[in-house]
Amino acid sequence: MKSTPSPRKATAKKATASKQAAGKKPKPSTAKKATAAKKATPAKKATPAKKATAAKKAKPATPATPAKSAKPATPAKPALKIPQPESRLSLVRRARRINRELAEVYPYAHPELDFENPFELLVATVLSAQTTDLRVNQTTPRLFAAYPTPEDLAAANPEEVEELIRPTGFFRAKTKSIMGLAAALRDRHGGEVPGRLEDLVKLPGVGRKTANVVLGNAFGVPGITVDTHFGRLVRRWKWTDSEDPEKIEALICDIFPKSDWTMLSHRIIFHGRRICHARKPACGACPIAHLCPAYGEGETDPEKARKLLKYEKGGLPGQRLKPPPDYPGEAAPPLAAG
Ligand code: SF4
Repeated sequence: MKSTPSPRKATAKKATASKQAAGKKPKPSTAKKATAAKKATPAKKATPAKKATAAKKAKPATPATPAKSAKPATPAKPALKIPQPESRLSLVRRARRINRELAEVYPYAHPELDFENPFELLVATVLSAQTTDLRVNQTTPRLFAAYPTPEDLAAANPEEVEELIRPTGFFRAKTKSIMGLAAALRDRHGGEVPGRLEDLVKLPGVGRKTANVVLGNAFGVPGITVDTHFGRLVRRWKWTDSEDPEKIEALICDIFPKSDWTMLSHRIIFHGRRICHARKPACGACPIAHLCPAYGEGETDPEKARKLLKYEKGGLPGQRLKPPPDYPGEAAPPLAAG
């Protein structure tokens, strides 16, 4: 397992900052205790031997290991209070600050589906319904090896496709979807994936979420991806109380410049998968707890919260079998090894 120094340092830094912001006295660190002990011992009178002993005792406290430096997040603190009604300016500032801090926590945020071209990303996104990106990534290499183009997939034997994608669940319905999609690409777009939202959403089984994933990641066209994580987190942060993905998308588009849309989506989805989980958010290990009005909805004890962390934050493999080079965690294992 590769170490993840930067994110942990960032976590510790923010934990300390949030403590100071909350006006809590930080728990004296071991280093401080060592200093206090030193003060209590009349250093001037110490013999060289005693000095050496004191130095020896103080030494182990000096280096802050990532685990120790993450500890001072301990004290429970109140959730961020938002003035009611909140002005638009205040909401925009809060939202943009969360985005900036998430960018520091997840500088390597990226789409978590493996793909080599727009066609693969489109099919992988359709397959990711009702399952994890990990399971899709473990399934698609064999599918794309057998059917590398829309023409190949559209002409495939459905039973063979069903067998290949069986691990993703709902494999009969998904076979119909991806074969229908492949046929539409072949018949309407000359076997190419169109690069415009209005064309993508007319393809069978492709909604705005899938279209935005493809546009943002395969075509470099900014898009907001409102999936289950995105919706949950923006409601926790009180950016909106809407449950409607289209309304959420419109609101976020209004708060952030276009250039932020795609990466903002990745960062929020990363945070939702790793720390701010649906059922047990790891508030006590959350680097943006000081900005969160929902702090305390999950586990606030840092030790217990750290055990809830997933993927690279929890020292576990990621979802991609081929993650980008800057990903600090481990690649996911192939299906046979999973
Ligand atoms: S983990 Fe807790 S503190 Fe962090 S964003 Fe989620 S609800 Fe807020």
